[in-house]
Amino acid sequence: MIERENLSPAELRRIENYRNRYMKMAKEVFENKVRYYINLTGGEYKRISVRDQKTRWGSCSSNGTLSFNYRLLFAPVKCLDYVVVHELCHLTHMNHSKEFWNKVAEVMPDYKEPRKWLKDHGNELSVEAHLKKQGISLKI
Ligand SMILES: [Zn+2]
Repeated sequence: MIERENLSPAELRRIENYRNRYMKMAKEVFENKVRYYINLTGGEYKRISVRDQKTRWGSCSSNGTLSFNYRLLFAPVKCLDYVVVHELCHLTHMNHSKEFWNKVAEVMPDYKEPRKWLKDHGNELSVEAHLKKQGISLKI
């Protein structure tokens, strides 16, 4: 874990630039995933928004706005797919009923695995951690 307090203004700006780039990338990735999975889940959505949140991976509002957390880019791709499928299934079932989970399982039979991964490791996903893992130094 990187302590933000120990970073210089230049390093913080660098993180911010990376973050903005990943946010843009995430928008494209989620749009493509939604386009693919909605053929399997059905339902209709209005728009897709990308957010930066600590613990929330996605949401689906009653007016059909799908929101996704850009940090999912740093998770195994299966996790990203799971969240997309999860939110798309909410277009049909606005709850976590048995019917909802059955629908998720129809599209992704092993959804419990990525769900558990996010529960166990979700808090480790950040742009700083990702850059570190890639060996990208924040020092300029
Ligand atoms: Zn849900």
